[in-house]
Amino acid sequence: MTPGRPSERSAPEPDPTADQATKDAMSNATTVSPAHSASTASTLITNIAALVTNDPSLGDGTPLGLIQDAAVVIEGDRIAWTGDQSKAPATDNRIDAGGRAVLPGFVDSHSHLVFAGDRTQEFNARMSGRPYSAGGIRTTVAATRAATDEELEANVTRYLAEALRQGTTTFETKSGYGLTTHDESRALRVAARHTDEVTYLGAHIVAPEFAEDPAAYVALVTGEMLDACAPHARWIDVFCEKGAFDGDQARAILTAGKARGLHPRIHANQLSYGPGVRLAVELDAASADHCTHLTDEDVDALANSRTVATLLPGAEFSTRAEWPDARRLLDAGVTVALSTDCNPGSSFTSSVPFCIALAVRDMGMTPDEAVWSATAGGAAALRRTDIGRVTPGAYADLTLLDAPSHVHLAYRPGVPLVSGVWRRGERVV
Ligand SMILES: [Zn+2]
Repeated sequence: MTPGRPSERSAPEPDPTADQATKDAMSNATTVSPAHSASTASTLITNIAALVTNDPSLGDGTPLGLIQDAAVVIEGDRIAWTGDQSKAPATDNRIDAGGRAVLPGFVDSHSHLVFAGDRTQEFNARMSGRPYSAGGIRTTVAATRAATDEELEANVTRYLAEALRQGTTTFETKSGYGLTTHDESRALRVAARHTDEVTYLGAHIVAPEFAEDPAAYVALVTGEMLDACAPHARWIDVFCEKGAFDGDQARAILTAGKARGLHPRIHANQLSYGPGVRLAVELDAASADHCTHLTDEDVDALANSRTVATLLPGAEFSTRAEWPDARRLLDAGVTVALSTDCNPGSSFTSSVPFCIALAVRDMGMTPDEAVWSATAGGAAALRRTDIGRVTPGAYADLTLLDAPSHVHLAYRPGVPLVSGVWRRGERVV
């Protein structure tokens, strides 16, 4: 199995959280309080039947680095030690995992959580075989523009709580339902209160007001809107697809974003063949997302790049579309991530376990590969090395399953197996 080699392929980028971590460490160092002593206490989690580390130098030597009868030590917000439970060091606190499985918290590297309203009728019509002519993304754009800041904030908070209960400890999220300078920058400010992985997607579709003049909309997205949005985002994204933005428009938008210090990622080759994947490789995008319709040239380009292919099976499930062929990508040596694409139109799920089950059942992935892609793969798609693994120095982001093995995520689909979640060393579920 060759699910991924991000450590061979990509030099780690500067850790975007390093500055904040340093600030936090400094403020901790100067703040002597009970909270401080609690946060730096060491905790041993032991009696772990199967621990997924994603370090192939550990355990069974596979990419999952699976250790049986394992233990983990958390110190502050980081993993301090990982290994055989019989060799665990002494700690301040001790938790018995009861013979269950532990894996890195899921890294959901593709979601659209800043929106208002829903599209129940559209989904119901689609699943009932009835024609539906409402405006798709435009419906959500209208509802999002009409929402208050508090409503958007409440929605993000709700869906994040949902995701956390299902084991997601890091998520990326995007703008893209505002499509005005004011509404896009507002969405990014809301998102940035919850995550460092914020993506400017002013180029989701051409704003309705510019339907007759898409070039003017591209000028807005690369001009005034970019100026307002760049300070609140890490990434820039484009929906490169027939009916959205073509290859030349997408190149212009991503290049403008790069010039403002944003890193590119792209919605590519979802509904049809097109230039998106090759553009992603050309621009060294961290990820090409969807990758459902790929030529052999597209697969070769990905395999010879450090661009991750992020597969989003919730979208194919919710639209009864053809599955992306994960097996073909993995066999070619492409690094694959699995994410939810959580959005109200085409994939209204916040559940990474559900996506793992779909990927195993319908996309040719093994359970090991799917779990790797939803953890280390997501981290690679965000060019992060401090998450998606359970190794010393990584953030202590852990998911405890009420099952003896990570394989149960696919073996027991739809069952709420996540029974504990630690984020940055704090038990949050
Ligand atoms: Zn998307």
